[in-house]
Amino acid sequence: MARPVLIAKLGSLWRVFFLTRTLLDLTRAQETYAPHSVRTEGQLTLGGLFPVHARGVDGAPCGDLKKENGIQRLEAMMYALDQINQDEQLLPNITLGARVLDTCSRDTYALEQSLTFVQALITKDTSDVRCTNGEPPVFVKPEKVVGVIGASAGSVSIMVANILRLFQIPQISYASTAPELSDDRRYDFFSRVVPPDSFQAQAMVDIIRALGWSYVSTIASEGSYGEKGVEAFTQLSKEAGYRGGICIAQSLKIPHNPKLEDYDKAIQQLLETQHSRAVIIFANEEDIRGVLNATKRANHGGHFLWIGSDSWGTKSSPIHQLEDVAVGAITILPKRSSIKGFDEYFTALTLENNRRNVWFAEFWEENFNCRLLSTSKKEDTTRKCTGQERIGIDSKYEQEGKVQFVIDAVYAMAHALHNMQRDLCPDHPGVCPQMESAEGKNLLKYIRNSSFNGSAATPVVFNKNGDAPGRYDLFQFQMTNSSMPEYKGVGQWVETLQLRTCLCFGASEVKASSSHRPQQADTAAAGQLVLLCQ
Ligand code: GLU
Repeated sequence: MARPVLIAKLGSLWRVFFLTRTLLDLTRAQETYAPHSVRTEGQLTLGGLFPVHARGVDGAPCGDLKKENGIQRLEAMMYALDQINQDEQLLPNITLGARVLDTCSRDTYALEQSLTFVQALITKDTSDVRCTNGEPPVFVKPEKVVGVIGASAGSVSIMVANILRLFQIPQISYASTAPELSDDRRYDFFSRVVPPDSFQAQAMVDIIRALGWSYVSTIASEGSYGEKGVEAFTQLSKEAGYRGGICIAQSLKIPHNPKLEDYDKAIQQLLETQHSRAVIIFANEEDIRGVLNATKRANHGGHFLWIGSDSWGTKSSPIHQLEDVAVGAITILPKRSSIKGFDEYFTALTLENNRRNVWFAEFWEENFNCRLLSTSKKEDTTRKCTGQERIGIDSKYEQEGKVQFVIDAVYAMAHALHNMQRDLCPDHPGVCPQMESAEGKNLLKYIRNSSFNGSAATPVVFNKNGDAPGRYDLFQFQMTNSSMPEYKGVGQWVETLQLRTCLCFGASEVKASSSHRPQQADTAAAGQLVLLCQ
């Protein structure tokens, strides 16, 4: 009697085991082709890559949530898609969907995630696969991604571009400015709505010349963005046409996965050449914070005159609670405008109306410094979120500097798809079979030929390398009448430098001249320098 009972028990145990295995396998299969992501349905799907989280430390792939570079930019893509889907002129009868992934600000992690985008193109023929009961298996078909918006960091875009080109998936970045990406033989499916850093480096040289400085140091984050940016700056600064040129006192590099000591060492090194106080900083956000923090630790706030690249721009996260050390910094940002429609969209987002963003609850907790659930990972507060908090009222909100470019990149993709649909499906209102089977090469051609007025009413165009023209706004992080310093627009660079206001360093004001005439030999006493405006 005992034997049949045991066998029956074992049988049901096996069934449970198999069911669990199958479920686990299914989840795993789902995970491989669709990891944690934002997904909206549409006849055509765009991929999106955003640094929703910073790099993790101590082996963890992902770290803290990035409110500006991550959440705001991701929402800018969702906003642009909503606008396009409501527009009856642009892509009529076609809904654009999205599959948005987190890069965790790390090239290798982004590469893994991006396999999702190519999954539909490498799905094997399973027609002869049968389950043990003879039935054909049910496969969840991954959606085909026609183009990808992203990524932010140059190194991430480079890594992802290498795989997307193999599958002919066009990519448009809203922030990657690394000069390397202009190489149209290696990155032929890559385009961007921001200018390459060769222009940004020229703008920096021109700023230094206008201020009459001739002795500067540089700091770069290890990788294509920082190193190549500084390389372009060094090259241009040596070029003739300026009496004496610009001498580089020190060229420092912050390694990947830096420790506190790396930043401290960099500051100590900079202090060795004390007459060079101007420091060009071409670094990612984490490194900017690291360097400013180390300056504070060394008690040298106010000593350095920072000139920060676009990754500093007008962001608050790299300087948060380090404002005193950042005061005086001159920063650069590709020319842009604040998009009013986005402000309205973003500040109206709530936990109820924004369920499509899988990272929104985490953002909510971070933004309002509260906990939604008792199981929340946020440990630095016990305050409960009410859900009634409002962005911009209960928390500070300022539009991040590259929101416009995210919107422009999505529109560039939409305009290209629109024109392609008109040519390939002349008598068909939606996506016709010719368009379904069209190669990515075809879409790329339409992207490169597109020209339209972007979200800020400025033209969006690509040159033969897929780059946008070099246009920048210049800012200085200045003390204002209120107690907190602010970024103030001080000029622009469009082929040449135009400074329209005076720059303040330390106690005195430095009136900058854009005449390019060298006026003082070094920056040793920049606090006392007064350069006359022309
Ligand atoms: N331009 C930077 C890069 O190419 C990214 C800056 C940003 O994300 O704001 O790495």
